[in-house]
Amino acid sequence: MATSTNSNELHAELKAAIAELCRSFPDTYWRELDAKRAYPAEFVDALTKAGYMATLIPEEYGGAGMGVTEATIVLEEIHRSGGNAGACHAQMYIMGTLLRHGSEAQKTQYLPKIARGDLRLQAFAVSEPTTGSDTTRLKTLAVRKGAKYVVKGQKIWISRAEHSDLMLLLARTTPLEEVKKRTEGLSTILVDLRQAVGHGLTIRPIRTMMNHATTEVFFDDLEVPVENLVGEEGQGFRYLLDGLNAERILIASECIGDGRWFLDRACRYANERVVFNRPIGQNQGVQFPLARAYANVEAASLMVAHAAQLFDSHQPCGAQANMAKLLAADASWESANAAIQTHGGFGFAEDYDIERKFRETRLYQVAPISTNLILAYLAEHVLGLPRSY
Ligand SMILES: Cc1cc2nc3c(=O)[nH]c(=O)nc-3n(C[C@H](O)[C@H](O)[C@H](O)COP(=O)(O)OP(=O)(O)OC[C@H]3O[C@@H](n4cnc5c(N)ncnc54)[C@H](O)[C@@H]3O)c2cc1C
Repeated sequence: MATSTNSNELHAELKAAIAELCRSFPDTYWRELDAKRAYPAEFVDALTKAGYMATLIPEEYGGAGMGVTEATIVLEEIHRSGGNAGACHAQMYIMGTLLRHGSEAQKTQYLPKIARGDLRLQAFAVSEPTTGSDTTRLKTLAVRKGAKYVVKGQKIWISRAEHSDLMLLLARTTPLEEVKKRTEGLSTILVDLRQAVGHGLTIRPIRTMMNHATTEVFFDDLEVPVENLVGEEGQGFRYLLDGLNAERILIASECIGDGRWFLDRACRYANERVVFNRPIGQNQGVQFPLARAYANVEAASLMVAHAAQLFDSHQPCGAQANMAKLLAADASWESANAAIQTHGGFGFAEDYDIERKFRETRLYQVAPISTNLILAYLAEHVLGLPRSY
C-alpha cells in the first residue's frame, strides 16, 4: 500500500496502484464471468491480498486505517477500469458496524482476520420479501433461549452470502406489537455461515439481469450464540442508520467510476466510427448527450468528495451522502444511455461490454436504496416537508 504522507500524492498513488491491479482483470475476465454468472474470486482475492479490502479497518486491527475518501478512490477506480466492486464492496461498510458497536472481544476476534483475508464479512441481511423498503416492519425473529438466539424468517437479495464466512443479520428481537417505536426492538447479530448452512440456514441463489451473486436466505430455527449480538439488543436499527452514510458514499463512487468508464468508451468510439464520411462524434447530436453526461458525472463527483470529507471529519453528512448517491446513480445511468446510443447496434453486442455495464449500473437506481426513498429523505429531513410514508 502507498505510504506517502501528502494526501494528494497518496491519493494519486492509490489510484495508480488500483488501476495497475485492475489491468490484470481486463474486459474479457468480467465478460466471461458475466456469461456464467460466476463470482470474481480471483479479483476479490487479489484485492484482499493487496490490502485494499481492509482500507477502512484501523491499523491497530491490522488494516490500512484509511478513511471513506480513500475507499471511494479504490471503488471508483475498479469501476472506471470496467470491473465491478459489487462482489466485495460490502465488506468495507459492514465492518463499520462491528467497529463502532462491537465489543472489544468481537473486534479483536474478527477484525484482524478480516484484514488478513482469513475471514470474509461480505453479507448483510436486511431486506425481506414481504416488507421491502419498510425496514422496521421486517419479520425475521430472533428469540432468545438461554445462551442462544433462535432465528426464524426469510431474507431476500442477500448478496455474496455464498461467498462470505460471516453475515450481519438485522432481525427483530422484540415483536413489533411490544415496542413503543417501530425503530426499537431490532438487533444486529453476526451469523457464522460456515456453521449455519445446513443447520437451520439455507441459501438459494437468485439469477438476476447482471452478475451479482445475490440470494434468498431462509432461517428455520437457526441457533446463534448470544455472544454474536453486536452492540445492545434492540438498538440494531440505529446501528443500521449509522452505517448507511458510508454505504451511500461508497456506492456513489462506484457510479462515478461507471460514468467515467462509459464516457471514455463512448468518446473513443465516437472518434473512431466513421459514417457519412466523418466520425460520428463530429455530429452535435452525438456530442451533446456525452457532454451533458460528463458535466453531471463531474458535478456528482464533487458531491461524493464533499460527503466523504464530511464523513471522515465526523460531521453530519446524511443529506450529502444521500445526494451523492442520487446524483451519481443518475449520472452513471445517463452516461450508460449516452454510451449505448453512441455505439448504435454495437452497444448491444456483448463483445463491447457496454451492454454489460449498462445492466450493472442500472441497479443503483434501486439498490441499496431506491431513488424515491432518497427523494423522500431529502423532502422530509432537509426541506421540512411532511413525511410521505
Ligand atoms: C441485486 C440486488 C442486490 C441487493 N443486495 C442486498 C443485500 O446484500 N442486502 C440487503 O439487505 N438487501 C439487498 N438488496 C435489496 C435492496 O436494498 C432493495 O431491493 C431496495 O432497498 C428496494 O426494496 P424493494 O426491492 O423491497 O422495493 P420496494 O420497497 O418494494 O419498492 C418498490 C418500488 O416502489 C417504490 N416505493 C416504495 N415505497 C415508496 C414510497 N413510500 N414512496 C415512493 N416510492 C416508494 C420504490 O422506490 C421502488 O421503486 C439488493 C437488491 C438487489 C436488486
